[in-house]
Amino acid sequence: MSKTQDPRRHLPRTDDLLETPSGKKAEGMVGREGAKAIVRRGIAKVEEQVTAGRIESGRDKLRGAAEAAIEDELLTLDRRRLQHVINATGVMLHTNLGRAPLGRSLFEKGSSVLGGYCNLEIDLETGERGGRGGVLDDLLRLLLGAEAAFAVNNNAAAVLLVLHGLARGREVVVSRGELIQIGGGFRLPDVFETSGARLKEVGTTNITTAEDYRMSQGPETAMFLKAHSSNYRMEGFVSSPSIAELAAIKDPAVLLVHDIGSGWMAYEGLFPDEPTPVRSLAEGADLVTFSGDKLFGGPQAGVIAGRNDLVARLKRSPLHRALRIDKATALGLEETARLHLSARLDDIPLFRMMRVSIEALRKRGARILRKSGLGKGQARILSTQAAVGGGSAPGMGVESVGIEIHLPWSPERTSAFLRSAPISVIGRIRDDKVVLDLRTVLPEEDEEIAGALSRLIDGVSRSET
Ligand SMILES: *Cc1c(COP(=O)(O)O)cnc(C)c1O
Repeated sequence: MSKTQDPRRHLPRTDDLLETPSGKKAEGMVGREGAKAIVRRGIAKVEEQVTAGRIESGRDKLRGAAEAAIEDELLTLDRRRLQHVINATGVMLHTNLGRAPLGRSLFEKGSSVLGGYCNLEIDLETGERGGRGGVLDDLLRLLLGAEAAFAVNNNAAAVLLVLHGLARGREVVVSRGELIQIGGGFRLPDVFETSGARLKEVGTTNITTAEDYRMSQGPETAMFLKAHSSNYRMEGFVSSPSIAELAAIKDPAVLLVHDIGSGWMAYEGLFPDEPTPVRSLAEGADLVTFSGDKLFGGPQAGVIAGRNDLVARLKRSPLHRALRIDKATALGLEETARLHLSARLDDIPLFRMMRVSIEALRKRGARILRKSGLGKGQARILSTQAAVGGGSAPGMGVESVGIEIHLPWSPERTSAFLRSAPISVIGRIRDDKVVLDLRTVLPEEDEEIAGALSRLIDGVSRSET
């Protein structure tokens, strides 16, 4: 590189680029100021390439490169918008894909309830101000057999609110086997830090006894917190006391709280190892907390249910104001609770998904293959194990059916191609092959999958010639 002639002197100027077709397009998408920022990013990229000697200098070259960089930014912006994707991973509660899908009935209600005004905090009989979640709380109460219940932003918020509201500055006893981490951001010890409650660990990683809990109690003890090991399973020489045992040995002044996680309502004998809010409350938990969007099958939320006096205290807490749900969540949870109460399980997409028969899945798989044009050597239908996922029912597989793809592309390349379909198809890689698991695919998405597969065959054959 010449020292006297800085190659960057040919970099295009922001104002000029804003007048190019790419610049105009950017302005149409994100406005004048947004376009300026995107153009500057484009210029910075080109500058980096020039400095590294990766592109030749020259006014036209650099201008072309900057325009290409802007187009690239715009494409990414569009591609990353929140959009419908097809979950062919076989993981029913995929946190990265939005956990539980929501039923159509909810969106039909949503367009009028949310598109206009609604009675979020007004009593339509008296015309007076009412509490948020009036009927929702009542439905949750009925469903869970609880004295009282309400919902907050998510289960992490529920646990935080319970610790902060009922045990701040005091001790909460937790088994060493239950100091859980859920997903990226929920580590129980960190939640304690934030809440102001003091964590008191008892027992060992694999064994904690009722006696450990009993001995741990003192004047500083506010609560026993039992947390479900939602996303892992310990096997072998493992034991910890049940809610009933803890209820029997605790001092009356000590609260017993069960963070259940999944909110499983124990249908049809499925997942017998999952704790349920109903059982924990019946066995003597003072409060339970669980997620709205795990096995409960609703929107993101955290439900807190149990003793009336405790719920009333938590609702009055200033932290509750910061964690409260919005009207869209209230509507979604209310609808989901009604479906549970009336046992209209098939209207909850998660349950419909769980209950589809293997024969039905096989038929759909065969139909997709026929429509896609994939030949015998190019794909096969096979038995798979779908999973609940989302930190629920660990180790519990659900029988399923998948389409395994046998094309000369690497599984990574095949996956990337399927993700680039008009509606992204997200599969998983197993034994070095891409498998599309049909348990998590909604029947109305089959057509899209067939289309994506037929484009895949075209793509592969083009790349071979
Ligand atoms: C999932 C889970 C949480 C966190 O719930 P979010 O709704 O994701 O905030 C907390 N505790 C347990 C036991 C869980 O399974």
